[in-house]
Amino acid sequence: MYRIPFNKPYIAGRELQYIAEAVANEHLSGNGPFTRRCCTWLEQRLGARKVLLTHSCSAALEMAAILCDIRPGDEFIVPSYTFVSTANAFVLRGGVPVFVDIRPDTMNLDERLIEQAITPRTRAIVPVHYAGIGCDMTAIMEIARRHRLLVVEDAAQGVCAFRDGRALGTIGQLGCYSFHETKNFISGEGGALVVNDESLIERAEIVLEKGTDRSRFFRGMVDKYTWVDIGSSYLPGEMIAAFLFGQLEMAETITAKRLAIWNAYHAALAPLEDAGLLRRPIVPSGCVQNAHMYYILLNSEAERSRLTAFLAESGIQAVFHYVPLHSSTKGLELGGGRCRLPVTDDAAARLLRLPCYFELTLEEVAFVCERVAAGLAR
Ligand SMILES: *Cc1c(COP(=O)(O)O)cnc(C)c1O
Repeated sequence: MYRIPFNKPYIAGRELQYIAEAVANEHLSGNGPFTRRCCTWLEQRLGARKVLLTHSCSAALEMAAILCDIRPGDEFIVPSYTFVSTANAFVLRGGVPVFVDIRPDTMNLDERLIEQAITPRTRAIVPVHYAGIGCDMTAIMEIARRHRLLVVEDAAQGVCAFRDGRALGTIGQLGCYSFHETKNFISGEGGALVVNDESLIERAEIVLEKGTDRSRFFRGMVDKYTWVDIGSSYLPGEMIAAFLFGQLEMAETITAKRLAIWNAYHAALAPLEDAGLLRRPIVPSGCVQNAHMYYILLNSEAERSRLTAFLAESGIQAVFHYVPLHSSTKGLELGGGRCRLPVTDDAAARLLRLPCYFELTLEEVAFVCERVAAGLAR
């Protein structure tokens, strides 16, 4: 057991009270009162056209791939430096990932490299907002418009973060959020699909409800519901939604707390950056971030291994992040061996994530920073 773990799930407010209410309501399946409260909250606070709760961000991405009509052999542009679900969702429909390198400042898809990766078979661009710091969506949307491609934002880490005044996840035709216990707002497992393109809303509701027109039935628009399309059971039960609503209504407090932690790391580690021992995260202008993650870039992979072990001896759990998808077992099978992604390979080898969670105290942050300094001074 670590004295300071990397992540810790937490209760922020009325989560347990709301679960009891959901049980008392005698509505425990999906699409009940708490689901509606969560969707309305997200739509109003983030300016989203339509939000559908899902049981995970992976599920939201799968729905997005169905809504993009990905067919076998269709290509989609995606960073290799991401979680497996970003690619898996499209591969499940027969899609072929085309991995594009990331920017060295933000670890986000490098918009300058997208156009050269487009072929006649490209259908979608799937940017990932790493660490809740937004991609250059103006550039990405312009490329997509010119080539008639759909944009699916993987905003799993970007809930309540903004780029150029717009909430991450609300800019592409579709956006995907995660409420997994490692994210900013949690429900254990959980997610949401944001449908920003009006023309995709009706089909999204059908795909969410196992391929039936059940939503239209409940609105009284059809007199019986039936199988009309492919789909699955993507919606969470009401107990999950109840827990999530307890978190969402505390969103300002949660984000403020995380930002205080992030800023404390950033200030305390500045001297180490000045000394050339590490590089801190870069937040481009136009980004309002949500302090999802605090990471540092060490000077080498060996240094990262040494520091990780040194921190563990002090009871601190620091963790690296993705094995790039193009060099993973499945990625290699899909042709990833042909990729040249120098920035991805380099970042994946040197990036280290420090503990960052709601209940982490500023004293603990100071302790972690003191240990990082001690570890790098050896
Ligand atoms: C966490 C995460 C996911 C998956 O989210 P789940 O809700 O666990 O399915 C997908 N993409 C990214 C970038 C993530 O960080």
